[in-house]
Amino acid sequence: MLTIGCHLSTARGYAAMGRTAVSIGASTFAFFTRNPRGGKARALDERDLAGLKQIMAEHAFGKLVAHAPYTYNPCSDKERARAFVLEGMREDLERLEHLPGNYYNFHPGCHVGQGAARGIELIADTLCRVMWPDQSTTVLLETMAGKGTEVGGAFEELAAIICAVGERAPELADKLGVCLDTCHVHDAGYDIVHDLDGVLEAFDRAVGLTRLRAVHLNDSKNSCGARKDRHEVIGAGYLGSEELGGGIEAFARIVRHPVLRDLPFILETPNELEGYAREIALLRELAGCW
Ligand code: FE
Ligand code: FE
Ligand code: ZN
Repeated sequence: MLTIGCHLSTARGYAAMGRTAVSIGASTFAFFTRNPRGGKARALDERDLAGLKQIMAEHAFGKLVAHAPYTYNPCSDKERARAFVLEGMREDLERLEHLPGNYYNFHPGCHVGQGAARGIELIADTLCRVMWPDQSTTVLLETMAGKGTEVGGAFEELAAIICAVGERAPELADKLGVCLDTCHVHDAGYDIVHDLDGVLEAFDRAVGLTRLRAVHLNDSKNSCGARKDRHEVIGAGYLGSEELGGGIEAFARIVRHPVLRDLPFILETPNELEGYAREIALLRELAGCW
């Protein structure tokens, strides 16, 4: 059974996200740990969390994939911005212990001209300071499109971050993984439409497939290597449309791939709930019978 879901709003609480997920055929979901622009997180309500846990157990949910706010830039050149990330990430991870054993995904950030090597050093430093050895959450670095000065457009950069954390704090290394965003890797120049196996082999060589823990499933408004990062609905972009990409078979190959099929798939396509419900049904069908 495919573990699939989409990004949901936390506005009505955790149990409400669980109910919404079930109503659209999802068996996982993503949510922002706080307002995507940062700011204060809402107080936790244990009853609300218990409600979600019950729904997840009853409906055999896979792991959830929480998302850090977009405003976190762990490799900013400004001390204040990095201090904001340290405080926010630490608090996000502490709060996630109330929903133990799930994933926390974040964007490695933009080095803003300091160079990728310095960016990698700063990101690793942040991780070493916000994580702790017996946390139950696995922290996922997201593969990025390589737009501007983004770090994480190349698999080797993600590997270097994980390696730097491992050198400084070996006890934290197994709490780190990667979330592969299909729009991002494609925009970064990895041709997952025509050479999915080759891309996964490149990932294995650089990072190691055991680190691959989740997939953001998105089509792309731009061509392979465009370094743009604009998501499209499944089947309408350069991955899955007949005219621009490889047709819907490109997504069938992704959700059926033995390396990927058991991971949680999160849709971040431009959709309302009905659109997500349709995409979830489509992808379940593709996973089952193609
Ligand atoms: Fe993301
Ligand atoms: Fe993503
Ligand atoms: Zn994106």
